[in-house]
Amino acid sequence: MYVDGKWVDKVLLTEKEKKKRKRESNKKYALKHRDYFRIKAKEAYAKCLKDPDKLKRVRKQRNAWYHRNKVRLKLHRQAIAAVQYAIQKGTLIRPDTCEKCGKTNPEGHHSNGYEKEHWLDVEWLCKDCHGEATRK
Ligand SMILES: [Zn+2]
Repeated sequence: MYVDGKWVDKVLLTEKEKKKRKRESNKKYALKHRDYFRIKAKEAYAKCLKDPDKLKRVRKQRNAWYHRNKVRLKLHRQAIAAVQYAIQKGTLIRPDTCEKCGKTNPEGHHSNGYEKEHWLDVEWLCKDCHGEATRK
């Protein structure tokens, strides 16, 4: 198999590494076929709407996801609010263009995460670059 571009006969990977590799390749595949997956997800959801049992299950899953990510989501909201507040106060200046490609109307991207000490630590990226940076 190939490891980092080099051919290796036998590689001993731990379970964790194997999982990581699998996840990365899945991610790449999903990105390449994004539109296809988007349509599939829409279709699946439309099907769910017709089936009350399934809808219940899906809602439960979503609820569980929300509870698992509650802390992160709260930090996310707070980080966005902090940026907006700083812009209003004038402590943070929002440029007119994207730092990467120069398009207008950039959004703040929290490249170092949403921890409190990084709330005002933003990169200014346009919608496209922001999406790309988030997916990395
Ligand atoms: Zn851009």
